[in-house]
Amino acid sequence: MAKLQYQGYSESDRAIPVAEKFGSANLYRRQATSLLNPATGFIKAYDFTLNPYQGCQYGCGYCYAAAFSPHYKMRQDWGNWIIVKENAAELMEKELASWERKQSQSDSKRPPKIYMSTVTDPYQPIESKEKITRSLLEVMVAYQPILVIQTRSPMVVRDMEILKKFRHLRINMSVPTGSESVRKDFEPRSPSIKARLKAIATLRHGLPCDELHDVRCSVTATPLLPTYFKDQIPFINKMQVVDRVVIQPFHNLRAGALTAVTRQEAIAIVKKYDWWYQNEEENYKKFKRLLQEQLSAVEIKEGQSGFTYE
Ligand code: SF4
Repeated sequence: MAKLQYQGYSESDRAIPVAEKFGSANLYRRQATSLLNPATGFIKAYDFTLNPYQGCQYGCGYCYAAAFSPHYKMRQDWGNWIIVKENAAELMEKELASWERKQSQSDSKRPPKIYMSTVTDPYQPIESKEKITRSLLEVMVAYQPILVIQTRSPMVVRDMEILKKFRHLRINMSVPTGSESVRKDFEPRSPSIKARLKAIATLRHGLPCDELHDVRCSVTATPLLPTYFKDQIPFINKMQVVDRVVIQPFHNLRAGALTAVTRQEAIAIVKKYDWWYQNEEENYKKFKRLLQEQLSAVEIKEGQSGFTYE
């Protein structure tokens, strides 16, 4: 197979103009060799992770996924390129058929547990054109996996009719702050908080939940970014609709393995929010207490434990 070229980033072809664009993002296409990857670390409770794209147009300031860029210059330019896995649906069919074959030889046959996605957003803007995520859902529905979809995009609602056919589904909507100005600082290209909360409410009301469908909806605030005190209660009240809220402190500010992978961009923005980060532990605890007080019917989870399907 020919070596993949990323015009504009590779040393050898820096001067070659990028062949394809989607908005301002550089767009590349490739034939993936595999799609379902064994899940490890934070989401090791799953069998596989599933990333329909490489790269993410949202380019959130704190995104750890930038570290998995194919080229160091692409890491620096995180948010401005996307790689489309053109043969994703075809691969998915093969890999799920293979799972099923292996399961048929086992005494404890079970569906695969799939987490979509870990290093991209399956509903970033390019999905409106390429529909790779949609094509994967169309394949998956025949196999009925236990599926978790992690996104911050209201575009997920577009696929409501397919999602209704899944029997084991959790939608995690990322909403790390209840203050729109904070959202604009940390993730300026992402959809508004209002649009995300409306989308998860639409899914909660529109997806079936009965003896045949175990469908769950969460809001994930991971990392929990600052929320102005005046916005906290209105934000929390909008979460009444989900069955789980997941929070986690900002990983960069804690000593640990993830420290090295937070983007520098976020570190600069954090300084602007001294009123929160000077006393982050206390502010985090207060927010958690508010969640517990206001959302008595909603499960409040922290960190890894919040990312399970169950
Ligand atoms: S949406 Fe997710 S994957 Fe995309 S940049 Fe933001 S944090 Fe990273």
